[in-house]
Amino acid sequence: MSGPLNCLCCGKCCFVDLTAYAHKEDFERWRAEGRQDILDIIAHRHLLWAGDRMISVDTGDYPRECPFLYSEGEKYLCSIYETRPQVCRDYQPGSSPLCPQWNRGQKDKNQ
Ligand code: SF4
Ligand code: SF4
Repeated sequence: MSGPLNCLCCGKCCFVDLTAYAHKEDFERWRAEGRQDILDIIAHRHLLWAGDRMISVDTGDYPRECPFLYSEGEKYLCSIYETRPQVCRDYQPGSSPLCPQWNRGQKDKNQ
């Protein structure tokens, strides 16, 4: 069995706006850290559950990528990596079919 899979920085997992799933503890941490910038960005997205997914209250559109995702060349990176939400910390490379490392993770499991 090999070790943890590397993140390829493809950004696919961050094209889902995972900040919509930030927990109370994340908000408390951001307040304690004085990260009003993060709180303001999330507040201004005005997201609301609409049955099975989030929509923007302002536009009725589905939110696209996370507002904290940015690219450097071909890599996608997190601009709040050091204090990213718990849901992002919990997402491991290869842990869902969304990730290009999924097949590799499945192969490792079967070895
Ligand atoms: S989808 Fe997988 S490889 Fe791509 S950024 Fe997310 S964890 Fe990394
Ligand atoms: S907060 Fe960072 S790790 Fe989480 S979805 Fe946004 S860009 Fe990705």
